[in-house]
Amino acid sequence: MSYNSFEVAQKQVLEASVLLKLDSNTTELLLWPQREYKFTIPVKMDNKSIKIFHGYRIHYNTARGPAKGGIRFHQDETVDTVRALACWMTWKTAIADLPLGGGKGGVICDPKKLSAEELENIARNYVRAAADFIGPEKDIPAPDVYTNPQTMVWMMDEYETITRKHQPGVFTDKPLQVGGTEGRRDATARGGVYTVREACKHFGVNSKGTYVIQGFGNAGQRAALLHQEIIGGGKLIAVSDSKGGIYNPDGLNPKELVVYKLKNGNVNNFPGSTNIKKEEVLETEADILYPAALENAINENNADRIRARIICELANGPTTPEADIILYKNNKIVLPDILSSAGGVIVSYFEMVQDKYSYFWPEDTVHSRLDQKITKAFWSVIEAMKEKRVHPRLAAMIVGVARVAEACKLRGWI
Ligand code: NAD
Repeated sequence: MSYNSFEVAQKQVLEASVLLKLDSNTTELLLWPQREYKFTIPVKMDNKSIKIFHGYRIHYNTARGPAKGGIRFHQDETVDTVRALACWMTWKTAIADLPLGGGKGGVICDPKKLSAEELENIARNYVRAAADFIGPEKDIPAPDVYTNPQTMVWMMDEYETITRKHQPGVFTDKPLQVGGTEGRRDATARGGVYTVREACKHFGVNSKGTYVIQGFGNAGQRAALLHQEIIGGGKLIAVSDSKGGIYNPDGLNPKELVVYKLKNGNVNNFPGSTNIKKEEVLETEADILYPAALENAINENNADRIRARIICELANGPTTPEADIILYKNNKIVLPDILSSAGGVIVSYFEMVQDKYSYFWPEDTVHSRLDQKITKAFWSVIEAMKEKRVHPRLAAMIVGVARVAEACKLRGWI
């Protein structure tokens, strides 16, 4: 089954608005992006020819503050994927109680087929096209799939050249030397582990039991390490990447596994472990599962076989709507991405604040403030779960949608 992500996102908004008894105007307002900007980006290629790329930047809702969300470079990007991601960012920033709205951007391109110079030309020309639409007080982009801190520096530099002002806070997730923050690199995984720590307390799951990681890239590797550091225990028993999976019921050493993966490019044949199919890793019996790979990994075909008690979504959209229902029926606890992967945007917000004051915080301050924010967000979702008797994803949507609706009302938009 293929999904139109924006239709899924709209369905979730509708469900939340019914439970919140929102009036029809409020629902209509929240079902659609506030504004969309679509533009062409002419780019000089290495062979001196000009190629036209297509770019988007969407502000889904700015009632609570400037739009915030990444820019993705991907060949499958469509207006609906950007709309969906901008929509989810709106609820994510609201659940974390950040003074921000939701936005997202993208360029249709295949970054694997482009040189570093061509990628820089796309990044800079994206900003030339979108300069009026973005800004530290309007819309603050960040990296997403196939964009990174280097892309953000090119974009920031271009923006400052256009505006003739030093404005590092216009993009986040920059390197430290040009206005980045401590604690950004592991923020998503760290935030996820904080939510797992709280969920284990609330649902009576053994946090020092077993855990499994699907996807061993940036987010997955950091979650493997941070789980034991933050929880003060726990046994990592299975890990997968795109090439396969490994299993060891006696425990895999996360530090050694990260070194092994960096050296070998995949986790297969890690000493002391048994190679298994990557699909089996998701279905391994464990207390906690961290999906940290791609969308739709847990779907109607495998949801019934998921045996972990808590599923902490570090990836964006790893669970399909059908799978969500099956997991809920099977008494599984899904910590939804709009809550459990909010660590990245929370620390991005800290970066904006530090850039504004040109005064930078030590790493432990970033960690403890992230802990406070995401822990508070977790308990607000639990409150909504109890009050409305719904599963965590719908509860998180209810928290986010209610906060945005309230801001719209206070402003007199509805
Ligand atoms: P990444 O590219 O560094 O890692 C992805 C990993 O998934 C790789 O190890 C890849 O081998 C693996 N993978 C791919 N297909 C797989 C499959 N079928 N089975 C098992 N493993 C598979 O990406 P990342 O930055 O770690 O992001 C992972 C997810 O987390 C994405 O959905 C991303 O949107 C989300 N996310 C990341 C951040 C962040 O700060 N990095 C923030 C928010 C959300």
